[in-house]
Order: sequence, then structure tokens, then C-alpha cells
Amino acid sequence: MWSLFNQLWQQSATIFAPPCLLCGAMDASFDNYCAACYADLPHRHPATQPSCQICAVQLGHERATPIICGDCLQHPPAYDKVWVALHYLPPITGLMHAFKDQGQQACGRLLSNCLLRYLQHLDNPPQALIPMPLHPVKQRQRGFNQALVIAQHLGQAMRIPVLHKHCIKTLNTPSQQGQKKHQRIHNLSRAFNVLRPLTDFQHIAIVDDVMTTGSTANALANTLRQAASTDIRISVWCVARTLPPHSQLHLADYE
Ligand SMILES: [Zn+2]
Ligand SMILES: [Zn+2]
Repeated sequence: MWSLFNQLWQQSATIFAPPCLLCGAMDASFDNYCAACYADLPHRHPATQPSCQICAVQLGHERATPIICGDCLQHPPAYDKVWVALHYLPPITGLMHAFKDQGQQACGRLLSNCLLRYLQHLDNPPQALIPMPLHPVKQRQRGFNQALVIAQHLGQAMRIPVLHKHCIKTLNTPSQQGQKKHQRIHNLSRAFNVLRPLTDFQHIAIVDDVMTTGSTANALANTLRQAASTDIRISVWCVARTLPPHSQLHLADYE
């Protein structure tokens, strides 16, 4: 009886599997994308595309690995290491827009799965995940916190608890784009509040959707570090990171 049920279940999974979100092919798995489209995404390849060991910013092709960027050397961030799966280039930009601004949760699952696959060989997983908090006003406008959706997906798959009530954003900071660096840092310095102690943890990971300058993750890591009594290790897990303006990588590398 159970084998018949399993057989029917597997057949229905094939019949009802949604088409690939990117090419419309009907051979997509429940991950909402096909293998060919997944291979074509702008994945980060730290071995062949050198990046900073701490903040993961893309460095020039001529640099050798391992290396730490000038910003991290001059001003070491409050987090220990950033893990980021994708470059923030098309079609990731479009998928992120569909997820965050149009609420298309299938796009969110696809993006979360990319990060999950990138992290699959992690040898030292954190004890808890902290989704990047949204200010309540922004969360009401959007209807959900995209970082929480991603963290819950990862937490469930990796069996890591998600602490979504430990930390809140108390300042509705304006968009980071177009602001000078010192302005950004000043705006963010008092943006977060930790509501519950983090004394039980030696290693946590902040989860976010897109990293641009890293200032927001740094501000949250700084607040979390102040709230932790031990020498806590803080990782940052991000789906995608924008390329720096001087980057030699560009869209053509993925066409
Ligand atoms: Zn496809
Ligand atoms: Zn760096």
C-alpha cells in the first residue's frame, strides 16, 4: 500500500512540478528552475574570481588569492566572514525584484536554494541564524521580511534555529544608495537593538538578501557583538553581492 502511495506521489510530483522560472521548460524540479538555467546563473567562483577573504568583495583578476581588501585592512568589520553565492547581475536582479517587490515566493525559494547549494560544503555551520531585521514600517509596506524567508528556508534545510525575535531595526534608515560612506555609517550606528541575550552562542550567522557596501551587515554585527558576552564568531550569509564599480567582471562574462 505504501509503495503504491509513494509511486503515485512521485508521479504527481512530476506532473505538477512548476515550469522553470527562467526559461519556462517543464522539466524544472520543485526548486522552480532547470539544471541548465541554474548552471547559467552568475555564480561566484572564489577560486577563479579573487575576492576579499573577509567581506567577499570582488577584486581585480590580476590579484592572487588569498587576500584581504584595503577597506577590511584599514577598518576591520565587526563580522568575521561573508559567504555570498551570486553576483548581483541579471537575472538575479530581476528575480530579487520579483521576490521583494512583487511578493513572488517561488523566486525567493530559487534564490534561497542558490545560497543553500553554495553553503553545502560548509565545515563549521553556525549555531543560529539571525535574519537581517526590517524596520516595522518597511515590513508593513512589503508584507514580509525577505531575509526571514531566506533564513527560514536555510534553517529548515540545514537544521539550524532561526532567531527572528532577538533583534529589531529601530531606525527607518533611508536607502543606502547615493549616500556618502560616513553618512551611511552614521545613519546605521544606532539602527538595531538586541532584545534577547546571545550568551548561549559561540557562532551565529546574519542572513540577508543583497549586500552592497556591507555597512548594514557591519552595523548589525557590531550591535550583536556588543550584546554577546563571549568572543562570538559572526558570519554573514548573503544571496548576492553587487560588484564594485571598478570590477572587471561584467555581464558579458555570463552571456
Ligand atoms: Zn530553465
Ligand atoms: Zn574586504
